[in-house]
Order: sequence, then C-alpha cells, then structure tokens
Amino acid sequence: MSIVEQIPLTNAENIERENRRSNSSCLEIWSVLDQVKDPEIPVITIWELGVLQNVTRSGDHVTVTITPTYSGCPAMEVIKEDILVALSSAGINDVVVNTQLAPAWTTDWLSSKAKASLKEFGIATINSDNTIVCPQCGCSKTNQISEFGSTYCKALYQCLECHEAFDLFKSH
Ligand SMILES: [Zn+2]
Repeated sequence: MSIVEQIPLTNAENIERENRRSNSSCLEIWSVLDQVKDPEIPVITIWELGVLQNVTRSGDHVTVTITPTYSGCPAMEVIKEDILVALSSAGINDVVVNTQLAPAWTTDWLSSKAKASLKEFGIATINSDNTIVCPQCGCSKTNQISEFGSTYCKALYQCLECHEAFDLFKSH
C-alpha cells in the first residue's frame, strides 16, 4: 500500500496572509474591507477570494495590498474603487492601494466558503487533485469548450454527464 500524502488545505503563502491579518495592529481596517466583494460574484469578499494581501497603517496613512486573480483582470479596477469607497465611508481617506503580482494568485487561496459560494453560482474550481467537477451534477467527466468563459479569469467547460455548460475559475 502506498502512503497517501496529506494535501494541505491552504498553501504556505495563504498561511502567511492569514498571519498578517491576525497579527495586524489595524484589525478594524481589515474588517471594513470585509464589505468589499468580488464585483462578479457579490457574495464573496476580497479576503475570502484571496485577493486582499495586506493592510498597513503609518499614522493616518493606510496602504492596502491586493493580488489580482488574473494579471489582466478588469475587475481589479472596480475592486480598487470599492476599497477606497469602503474606507472613505469609515472616515479613512489617506489610502494607497498597491497591486502585487508575485507570488501569483492561485485557487488554493480561495477559502472553503468562497469555493462553496462559487459552486452555488455555478462556477467550478480546480480541486487539489487537479480534477474538475461539474457544479450542477458533481460529475468529474468534463470537457473544455473555450479557454475563456464569461470573463478572462474563467474558462468555459461542459459536463459530459448532464451537458450543462459552466465556468471554471482558472488557477492563474
Ligand atoms: Zn453535470
């Protein structure tokens, strides 16, 4: 019998991200940013999505660091605006939003809640064993129809069992 390796639920970068939040001296700002949702999937916060990387404060100056799910993702401009609006409504106006491209975002950074919400929206994610499961019927026999789905960060797939087409959230 072979020893099956335990696949970690979150990777090292995501553990660091969680530590940055839990050790932060400005937890209230992270909490304000929990109001900011993915513009395309409005039930998932940018924290659950793995996009929100860091929040630091120096005096009144706040720096927010985000990593896009996809380097050309047009939703990032909307997310930046939404961050500024959310902080402004909390009285925080001296804000810079930095985009950090490395390390690149992966679907490993999605929280389990985010993955469940995506599934409810009919969007699949790649499992840690590289399988893709139809969000409608749970079948793992699927076929890529197009490299791009409804947005650049998604690919269009079809289930070979129930024949429903669905979006796959790409890992990069
Ligand atoms: Zn199906």
